[in-house]
Amino acid sequence: MPGNIEKFVEEATKVVGSDHITTNLAIRHSYMARSVMGIRAGVAEAIVKPANRDETQAIVNLCNKYKIPISPYSGGLSGGYAQPLKPEGIILDMVRMDNIIEVDEDARYVVVEPGVTAGQVWTYFRKHHPEWAPPVPDGAPPRATLIGDALERGFSLVTSKYGPQGRMINGLEVILPRGDIIYTGSWALKGFKPYYPWGPGPDFTGLFLGAQGTMGIITKAAIRIIPHPPYIDLVAYDYDTPEDMQNHSMAVLKKEVGVMVQGGNWWLVPSRKDEREVPKTIEEWREKKYYIPEWLMNYELWAHTEKEMQSQIDIIEEEAKKIVDAGGKAEPMELHPRAKAVRLTKPNLIAVPYAMHRAGFVFITWYCPWKDCAEISRVSVETMEKFDIPPVQWVASIEQGRQCISMPIITFDSRTEKGYEQAEAWDKHFTKIAHKKGWMNYRPNAFIHWPAMRPLMPEYVKMLKELKEIWDPNGIMHPGRLEV
Ligand SMILES: Cc1cc2nc3c(=O)[nH]c(=O)nc-3n(C[C@H](O)[C@H](O)[C@H](O)COP(=O)(O)OP(=O)(O)OC[C@H]3O[C@@H](n4cnc5c(N)ncnc54)[C@H](O)[C@@H]3O)c2cc1C
Repeated sequence: MPGNIEKFVEEATKVVGSDHITTNLAIRHSYMARSVMGIRAGVAEAIVKPANRDETQAIVNLCNKYKIPISPYSGGLSGGYAQPLKPEGIILDMVRMDNIIEVDEDARYVVVEPGVTAGQVWTYFRKHHPEWAPPVPDGAPPRATLIGDALERGFSLVTSKYGPQGRMINGLEVILPRGDIIYTGSWALKGFKPYYPWGPGPDFTGLFLGAQGTMGIITKAAIRIIPHPPYIDLVAYDYDTPEDMQNHSMAVLKKEVGVMVQGGNWWLVPSRKDEREVPKTIEEWREKKYYIPEWLMNYELWAHTEKEMQSQIDIIEEEAKKIVDAGGKAEPMELHPRAKAVRLTKPNLIAVPYAMHRAGFVFITWYCPWKDCAEISRVSVETMEKFDIPPVQWVASIEQGRQCISMPIITFDSRTEKGYEQAEAWDKHFTKIAHKKGWMNYRPNAFIHWPAMRPLMPEYVKMLKELKEIWDPNGIMHPGRLEV
């Protein structure tokens, strides 16, 4: 163990107690093994688990003293993004800070610590505030945290309607890399409640969103809650082409219908099973298993009354009729009640079985306008086929279809070097095409996406570096991420 780390561990043990810090190699490696969303990760020298804000601040001060890089980690389900990039760093695991501090049903927010998981907060609300819902990530396993997902500006169960998780933040409590504590939004004023997100002047919250842990450690967040009405339903549509899928859903989304509108191609179904069991063509699958559409869109609908629910279903039907009248296909699908129930369970484990297909998988997410949703889907599918990757393509609406989040699900053999090479070769290839089309990575990795984006935004990169130098003079916060 390098000398600095040794001294750090000795002093940090006095802060958190010997049960909450470890340098055990197996445990350090086990953190790395959770890398699903980013496939490159480094091993930390130590894992430190503070119990509260004061302990976190004391650890940050020690890291400044010994120049130890910190990678903050809440649920760790963003994988490589929550792992160190530079050697001789620590993981600051926030798991013990798991208090749900306050729920305000009138101003409509919940205050949580970073260790509060999606499963925990969802269960808490069902029990204590059944008419309200916290915006938990839709498909992430229940162990993901509300704060980790909000910092990633993730995709919640209501993102189609309310926008990405970043929009749901009313305020943050942050320990800056220098050890100072700041609050954002109306929280910035002493004694004020976190009801107003934009704060007294320029908004600081944005500095921490998409920052991949480079700008500070969030120790508390006020996150908006939304009404959880009694009528919840799911309707699904079958299309032959991604263009029909795009145009039908775009018309529906422009009428601002649906809390969650998401779909993709037929490969979303078979790639949740072992590759060896899966028929290679849709015809074979339909013959052996059951009918699945070439392209599919799910519309999850929430309503306070039966009438409101019916009016949403009517809009979807009316818009489908227009597609059919124009010579396309947009057919409502019969859903098995069990399939509906699985989809409507929150938070769900729906995405986990992708690991069954080829042992490893990685979600590489892109943003584009919804009107490009068919084109991005076609490019994803074609390029994945070229790289011998099962062409699994998922899209979802953000902010009523103002944007599309497009996610090719790259399944690869994680037991072989070749599997990783194949995934990264595709990623590089797709990135080149995507940038020419004006499509953007929402969670750029430091190896492929950021170097490709850098020449497209020189002023932005320069300012970010300058800002980071003021904010974090010792360069201790997740260095290497976003090249800062
Ligand atoms: C099977 C599967 C399905 C998924 N489905 C979804 C989905 O439906 N929607 C969705 O949005 N995401 C999804 N994800 C992605 C990921 O799980 C989420 O973004 C996740 O919720 C992030 O939360 P976390 O607590 O795991 O964050 P972490 O991985 O701990 O952290 C996320 C980032 O924020 C930084 N960070 C963490 N905590 C702090 C802190 N306290 N202060 C400062 N920086 C911090 C980390 O360094 C990292 O860069 C899925 C992932 C998997 C594996």
